[in-house]
Amino acid sequence: MLAHVVATFATLSAQQPNQGARQFISVSDSVVALTNVRVIDGTGAAARDGQTIVMKGGVIQAVGVSGQVTVPAGARTMDLAGRTVMPGYVMLHEHLFYPAGGGAIYNEQGYSFPRLYLAGGVTTMRTAGNMAGYADLNIKKAIDDGTMVGPTVDVTAPYLEGPGLPIPQVKALRDAADARKMVNYWADEGATSFKAYMHITRAELGAAAQEAHKRGLKITGHLCSVTFREAAALGIDDLEHGFVTSSDFVPDKKPDECPAGNAVQRSIASLDVNSAGVRDLIAELVRRRVAITSTLTIFETFTASQPSAPTKALDALLPEARRQYEQRRAAIAQSADTTWNVLLRKEMQLEKIFAEAGGLLVVGTDPTGFGGVVAGYSNQRALELLVQAGFSPLDAIRIATLNGAKYLGRDSKIGTIAVGKQADLVVVRGDPSARIEDVENVEIVFKRGIGYDSAKIFESVKGRVGLH
Ligand SMILES: [Zn+2]
Repeated sequence: MLAHVVATFATLSAQQPNQGARQFISVSDSVVALTNVRVIDGTGAAARDGQTIVMKGGVIQAVGVSGQVTVPAGARTMDLAGRTVMPGYVMLHEHLFYPAGGGAIYNEQGYSFPRLYLAGGVTTMRTAGNMAGYADLNIKKAIDDGTMVGPTVDVTAPYLEGPGLPIPQVKALRDAADARKMVNYWADEGATSFKAYMHITRAELGAAAQEAHKRGLKITGHLCSVTFREAAALGIDDLEHGFVTSSDFVPDKKPDECPAGNAVQRSIASLDVNSAGVRDLIAELVRRRVAITSTLTIFETFTASQPSAPTKALDALLPEARRQYEQRRAAIAQSADTTWNVLLRKEMQLEKIFAEAGGLLVVGTDPTGFGGVVAGYSNQRALELLVQAGFSPLDAIRIATLNGAKYLGRDSKIGTIAVGKQADLVVVRGDPSARIEDVENVEIVFKRGIGYDSAKIFESVKGRVGLH
C-alpha cells in the first residue's frame, strides 16, 4: 500500500508540477470583497443579510453591512446576492483512508480525499486515525506547500492499540513503555495528535496521554477496553463516536478488556438516557473538559431507517466500491435487526444532552464502515444529521466550525467569521440557517483567502474513491 501511495505522489508531481492546486483556484486576488451576502458567523448568532466581507492577504479585514464597509480600491469585488458565507468547517474525524473491502485493509485515498474534504467545505481537519503512517504526514506537507489540494491537516499518529484488532496495518502495543515510545516517535516525525483504540489498557492510555500532554499535544480515543470514566481520569481529551462506544454501562465489565460480541451496543440500546448513571458520566466528562466527537454519518449507514448515500457521493466511487456499498446497503435495508435504528436515536439524544450540559461537542464523519461515508459529501451530511438530532441549523454550524477550532486550540485564528481571522470561508447558494440542506450547494471554498472551485474539484475525482 505504501508503494501505491508513493506511486500516486510520483504520478502527481510528474504530471502536474505545481499544478495540483492551481487548476482548481477560481479566486487568487490578494484583496477580495464579497458583497451582498448572508453571513453565518459560526458563533451560533443569527444569520445577517446584506453583508460585505473584505479579505486581504488571506485574512478577514472587515465584515459589516454592505455600503457601510469600505471596499479598498483595486479589490476584486464579487456580488454574491443569494449566497450565504460560513466559516470553513473544522472537522475532527476525517481519515485519509477508506475500506477496501474484505474488512481487513484500508486503502489510503491520498489523491481523492483531501480534494473532497476541501470541496465539501472543510478547511481544517484532524485525521483521528492513521493507517498509512508517513503518507498522512507527507500529504499534509504537500497541501501546505500548495502542490496538493486539501484542508489544513492535524495529522493523528498511527493508532495506539493493544492486541486483538484484526487489521494488519495496526501495531499492537506491548506495554506502557511501548506506548510512550510510540507517542514520542510520531510526535518527532510531525504527528500533532493521537488516537487510542479499542484494546488499549489503562496503563498504556495513561502513559500515552502523559507523553502527548508533555508535548502540548492532544489524545482522543475510540475506546472499549477502557471506559469513558476511566479515560477521563487518565487525561483523555476527546472521545470519538459519542456514547455508542462507551463501555461504562456494560454489566460486570472486566478492567482493560473490551466486552465480547455486541455487549457494548446492547448496553447502550437499553440505556435510559435520562438515568442518574448517564447524568453522572456526562457531568464527569464536562467537569474534566473531555470533548465528544459526533460521527452520526457512519452510524447512519448501519441503519435501515436512514436514507442511502446520495447518488452524487456514489458517483465518486470506483465501480467496484460502489457495488460493494450497494450490496451491503440492500442487505441492511431488508434486515429485521433494528438495533442500529435505536442506537442512532439514542446517540442523537445523548449528544444533545451532553451539549446542553456544557460539554464541548465537535463533529467528524469517519469514512469507514462499508463505504457509505464519502469525504466531502459526508461533511455536509454531518451538519444535516446534527439538525436531525435536534440542534438548530445555527448550532449545527457552530459545532462544525467554532467548536472544532476551540478543541484544536486554534479559535483565535479560525472557526468564525471575524476581523483578524484567517479567511477560511464556505460560499453556498441558499440559506442553511433556514434549510440546512443548502450546505450541499457549495460554490467556492476559501482557504486563507484563496478561492477554490468546489464543483470542479468534485468533478476531478469522480469514480476514483476506493482506488486513489
Ligand atoms: Zn474512525
